[in-house]
Amino acid sequence: MRIVVVGNGLAGTMAGKTAREILPEAEIEIVGEERYPYYPRPNLIEFLAGRLPYDRLFAFPEGWAERQRIGLRLGERVVRLKPGEHRIETASGASLGYDALLLATGSRAAVPPVAGVERRGVFVLRTLDDALALVERLSSSRRVVVLGGGLLGLEIARAIRGRETPSEVEVVEFFDRLLPRQLDPGAADLLKSQFEKAGIAIRLGAAATEILGAEETSGVRFRSGETAAADTVVIAAGVKPETGVAAEAGLEVGRGIVVDDRLRTSAPRIYAAGDAVEHRGRLYGLIPAAFEQARAAASNIAGQDRAYDGTIPSNTLKVAGLYLTSIGEIDAEGPGAESRLRSVPEAGLYKKIVLRDGRLTGAIWMGTKTGAAEIARLVALRKDVGSVKDALLADDFDFSELA
Ligand SMILES: Cc1cc2nc3c(=O)[nH]c(=O)nc-3n(C[C@H](O)[C@H](O)[C@H](O)COP(=O)(O)OP(=O)(O)OC[C@H]3O[C@@H](n4cnc5c(N)ncnc54)[C@H](O)[C@@H]3O)c2cc1C
Repeated sequence: MRIVVVGNGLAGTMAGKTAREILPEAEIEIVGEERYPYYPRPNLIEFLAGRLPYDRLFAFPEGWAERQRIGLRLGERVVRLKPGEHRIETASGASLGYDALLLATGSRAAVPPVAGVERRGVFVLRTLDDALALVERLSSSRRVVVLGGGLLGLEIARAIRGRETPSEVEVVEFFDRLLPRQLDPGAADLLKSQFEKAGIAIRLGAAATEILGAEETSGVRFRSGETAAADTVVIAAGVKPETGVAAEAGLEVGRGIVVDDRLRTSAPRIYAAGDAVEHRGRLYGLIPAAFEQARAAASNIAGQDRAYDGTIPSNTLKVAGLYLTSIGEIDAEGPGAESRLRSVPEAGLYKKIVLRDGRLTGAIWMGTKTGAAEIARLVALRKDVGSVKDALLADDFDFSELA
């Protein structure tokens, strides 16, 4: 059997690895546009902060793919799918046949329609090449504006602020609070003050309309008419699933490449997994989902029957000295829903659980690592915690009671 994977990110790599575990004899080839072997994207944040050297960015030791007998074609872009012929074509003119094809094309950084984004000094952070370019710029940068107060924007801001010679940093968020999808207003307020204490300015409710400057960036103008000075702008305004080749080949594409519970696309023998995928109307853009989808897709390709029924989104903000996990529902809305909250602002502590008919459906856990992994696991299991819902938020709560 010959399996071809498009995309050398997490989903493509994990699918290749899983397929190899199940099918020792299969021919497996991964075609990836980036010229590097697989690296986890969160490592780019550590690299940006100067805490992780270049050679430790990569997930596997040199020669891993060869030892797995996985063919890697790096720096090669797939430009065309030919589902009728079971072939793909690459930009360099190669034509590769497959018995099964996995599309793991991920996403790209979304760039909003702001005038002047083409100026020198405007960056995104998605790939290692993006990170290398940004790090070079930061060596001579004095003032950075990060457009986007989501997880990625906040992690970028903290990383830049944590560098040996930090620039001034301001985060600009369109909504009136940070992390609107992951935090309720109380937790978002507390997070904002923690960032301000760390020397990062936060501007809420502001929409950038223009990057100012001649060739070089000199600042940002907002819809209100206000401006902020900046020699570097980093756009962290979400992602756009890469669906180009799938759409051109006539596969069903909505916001992402549409797949069923076995990660099959609308075309025979073509599967998809990861950020590029739309499953039951949902796009995740998260590692756990990409990982589970990749494992399931590879298993199905290998002839096993493995259903994927979705992932409960869990987000952790990984910035030094600040713990934050948000999982599942963050507000108690609708019949049967209730919440419990414990907040100690002076200690930076904010813990909230959301229950539905006694079962745990979501949590915000901020200011402490203790209990975070346990609560995330309980939410994933939708555990019935009705009898301990008032005790659960105490610092000394013993989670083994719920094991
Ligand atoms: C800085 C950063 C930090 C992050 N931190 C977290 C985190 O802490 N937790 C979390 O859950 N998620 C995090 N994410 C998101 C996470 O990285 C993604 O969910 C994950 O990378 C998805 O994997 P993927 O393989 O689907 O897509 P991608 O990682 O985007 O990989 C897709 C690959 O396919 C290639 N490709 C696309 N089209 C083609 C083509 N036509 N031909 C050949 N190759 C192609 C792309 O170049 C890319 O290399 C972070 C993202 C970034 C950028």
